[in-house]
Amino acid sequence: MSEIELSGLEKRYGDELAVEDVSVTIEDGELLCLLGPSGSGKSTTLRMIAGLTSPTDGEVHIGEDDVTDRPAYDRTTATVFQDWALFPHKTVLENVAFGLRMRSVSKDERQERAREMLDRVEMVDHADDDPTNLSGGQKQRVALARSLAVNPDVLLLDEPLSNLDKRLREDMQIELREIHEDLEKTFVHVTHDQDEAFTLADRIGIMADGELIQVGNPHEVYENP
Ligand code: ADP
Ligand code: ADP
Repeated sequence: MSEIELSGLEKRYGDELAVEDVSVTIEDGELLCLLGPSGSGKSTTLRMIAGLTSPTDGEVHIGEDDVTDRPAYDRTTATVFQDWALFPHKTVLENVAFGLRMRSVSKDERQERAREMLDRVEMVDHADDDPTNLSGGQKQRVALARSLAVNPDVLLLDEPLSNLDKRLREDMQIELREIHEDLEKTFVHVTHDQDEAFTLADRIGIMADGELIQVGNPHEVYENP
């Protein structure tokens, strides 16, 4: 079970309330987009789900687990960021296999699994390439494969397509949607791009000034702006 429950989630930075009283249940296998302008608290919310930032109040539960209590090696989440952060001195395959090193998986198994993930994002032909030579879209596919290789229950995506040009972004939206349907994992996807949220989401959570002001499927959100 990888249902995510946020209850009364709050994050303060000094006097600033970055996230205020966010409560929502994200269902197992759902793709929820957090949509809102820059500075509305989307990224901070996502980082609290990832356990990368601790809340100043409230709780995050993933399934039975209280995220704030969990050690890093045992996380059920993986995160894809806007800037792909691939290791430049490793091949594409090594980049994808890297996360598995900490998980006592044999070398053969790591490579096999990494290839499988690269195949899924249509990058297996680039397995031996230097990632610095790839295009932005290709880098983001590799970053996605790397996150998926650890077989997380929950995939968190923080503006993963925002650095791509429009055409590629639209192609990747469709691909992400397909990957989500294929994997049946819970995805939480942060974006400031309304079209992207409408293309991708099962449900959209609208954030403004740190608050989650509306949650609904794209149709509901569209009808009641
Ligand atoms: P979004 O992802 O919607 O752009 P963020 O969650 O990044 O919004 O930021 C929400 C607010 O919190 C912003 O005003 C931002 O400046 C502030 N903030 C985020 N991270 C920090 C931090 N580490 N220290 C201080 N303020 C922060
Ligand atoms: P995003 O692009 O996801 O909104 P940012 O560029 O706002 O992220 O933040 C990147 C990093 O800088 C994060 O670790 C965030 O916590 C930190 N940060 C963001 N806003 C501030 C701020 N006002 N003061 C200090 N740190 C911040």
